Amino acid sequence: MGKPLRKVLVANRGEIARRIMRSCRDMGIATVAVFSDADENMPFVRDADEAVRIGPPPSGESYLRIDRILEAAARTGADAVHPGYGFLSENAELAQACADRGVVFIGPTPDAIRAMGSKKEAKRIAADADVPVVPGYDGAKQDIETLVEKAREVGFPLMLKASAGGGGKGMRIVREDKNLEDMIESAKREAKSSFGDDTMLIEKYIESPRHVEIQILGDAHGNLVHLFERECSIQRRHQKIIEESPSPALNPELRARMGDAAVRVGQAIGYRNAGTVEFILAPDGSFYFLEVNTRLQVEHPVTECVTGVDLVRQQIRVAQGEELGVRQEDLRQQGAAVEVRIYAEDPSNGFLPQSGPIVDWHLPPMEGLREDGGVESGSHVGIHYDPMLAKIITWDHDRTGALRRMVRALQTLSVQGITTNRAFLLKVLQHPKFVAGEIDTHFIETHMKGELEVEVPEALVRRAAVVATLADHERRRVCNPTLPHVPSGWRNNPWAPQWVEYEGPAGDVRVEYWHRGRGAFDFTVGEWSERVQLVACDEERPDVFELRAEEGGVRHRMRVVRSGGVWHVQDAEGAAMLVEKPRFPDPSAEAVAGGCVAPMPGKIIQLRVEPGQRVEQGDVLVVMEAMKMEHTVAAPSDGEVSAVHVAEGDQVDGGALLVVIDEG
Ligand code: ADP
Ligand code: ADP
Ligand code: MG
Repeated sequence: MGKPLRKVLVANRGEIARRIMRSCRDMGIATVAVFSDADENMPFVRDADEAVRIGPPPSGESYLRIDRILEAAARTGADAVHPGYGFLSENAELAQACADRGVVFIGPTPDAIRAMGSKKEAKRIAADADVPVVPGYDGAKQDIETLVEKAREVGFPLMLKASAGGGGKGMRIVREDKNLEDMIESAKREAKSSFGDDTMLIEKYIESPRHVEIQILGDAHGNLVHLFERECSIQRRHQKIIEESPSPALNPELRARMGDAAVRVGQAIGYRNAGTVEFILAPDGSFYFLEVNTRLQVEHPVTECVTGVDLVRQQIRVAQGEELGVRQEDLRQQGAAVEVRIYAEDPSNGFLPQSGPIVDWHLPPMEGLREDGGVESGSHVGIHYDPMLAKIITWDHDRTGALRRMVRALQTLSVQGITTNRAFLLKVLQHPKFVAGEIDTHFIETHMKGELEVEVPEALVRRAAVVATLADHERRRVCNPTLPHVPSGWRNNPWAPQWVEYEGPAGDVRVEYWHRGRGAFDFTVGEWSERVQLVACDEERPDVFELRAEEGGVRHRMRVVRSGGVWHVQDAEGAAMLVEKPRFPDPSAEAVAGGCVAPMPGKIIQLRVEPGQRVEQGDVLVVMEAMKMEHTVAAPSDGEVSAVHVAEGDQVDGGALLVVIDEG
């Protein structure tokens, strides 16, 4: 038996670093985080007992630097390294370097990582273990003529794959002979630049496939078990966004056969620690080995929820030289679990990653809900790393229950300040085909094409405008200590309404209201007029309100977040963002004479002036973008531009000084 670990260094960031540290803490093990300059304020750095700065933001200069990670381990006296997923997790050199220095690597042996790092070699091993593999070409001859000839033998449609590949890179579906040669060449180029190795595999393309994978766990004493399957067919750009266990496509007999196949692959290489055997499942129920991921997988929580096994704890036990704490015959799948990945990305724009500040992150607790999160309110999402913010996992006795809980969780999740896939995930989860479990890896292209835009219903915009106005009214009332008994809307003339104007998702919204005292307001927005009673407005933290208001005998609860002049309002039906229009010519005039400030955090997409330029009042100086809405900042008066503090492409905070104008 080995010796117990005392201190684990987590060579990763974000949610997975926090997840690993959680199990370490549970086991009485101290933790060390490593972080780049971009991450110093992230929650995972604070979660750790100790944290070591390892370099500048680009991962090539920080999270991928084996030397710096091992130096951090030496400096803190960490006796083990957990690589998480991504980054160095499937890097045999890190595993080897750890072994050479007597540091425990929490993962498989360098040999197993190497063998499985090549899809080609992995396929050979699987085939030798009597596990079905996708028919195709995996030979050593890699010149274009041979590949073209072999591709024609395999037949169309086919799939080109980089043997050293991962993350969907260097992969092409080829449906006809026409562009075959070009596609082979471009896949080779991509493989070369991404992985430094352009060895290609050619596989028959399985139509309407599902991606179903099996979790395995092995120890150094010859024990190897599987922990059933995860269904991961909901993918965009060959990357998973929703995963679940059990798979709706498996019956007990197929499940047992796939589990056995995964165990045979594991046994063939004497696999130790946690790993995942990926399969493709054809509509007729035949399945084929794809590859082995020699690490903890992003979607491991669904397996944990249905089996009750803490996979990180098992990884640590195995790394300590202990026997697995679970036996195959004791393992069961109980209930059903689903995971969604919340990404900072824009589904309506090719799922393009987004960066910027997270003004609010709030997920109310619920039965059967697990949050594996990497960010919090105030975190900044940069451009250097994968834009996954968090995973949300729900479970229940059956799939229907787990899905309903997930829909509810996503409806109550408030993530503001940055565009995410939250609304898109909700649409997938409620799509009748998804609900029926009729999915394959093309689900998103096939069924979600027309569902990529987020529409904000007019009624929600109107409600948001009313609620933002109420919250602002309360805020000003509470902030006015001199006359607390005078309502903030107090006017000499009770007939003239107060008003405020917002820029909404589909144009301007003007709100007029009369405060009738005791929290009663009469509102008019366009054609709509109603009495609204403010019930409560609790300020959770500065500028974040949980507001309750009664309208037509019904009390609504909404979360309202203010960020500069921007209001984010969220209720169970969705989220709306409104930008308050300045009431007086220039709200920033008090702070910096002639200064123009950003009305909200966002990105400068156009700079229309330069120092020395003359402008007239109302001229557009800067165009900004936040959460897909564009906003202009205009000159408050005639004058000359005396200073410009931003450049196109800059990310700025709300209230940041952009341009200064000298009047005259
Ligand atoms: P990666 O290393 O990028 O994860 P994989 O070989 O695991 O590469 O394949 C990624 C995804 O591509 C799978 O989840 C599946 O959706 C699809 N895929 C891979 N091979 C095939 C194939 N032969 N036929 C159909 N789809 C495939
Ligand atoms: P009950 O039948 O009273 O709900 P259970 O012990 O079955 O008691 O479940 C307790 C809670 O755990 C329930 O809220 C249920 O949704 C949740 N749950 C259901 N299935 C699982 C599972 N496989 N793993 C963990 N928790 C589960
Ligand atoms: Mg894969």
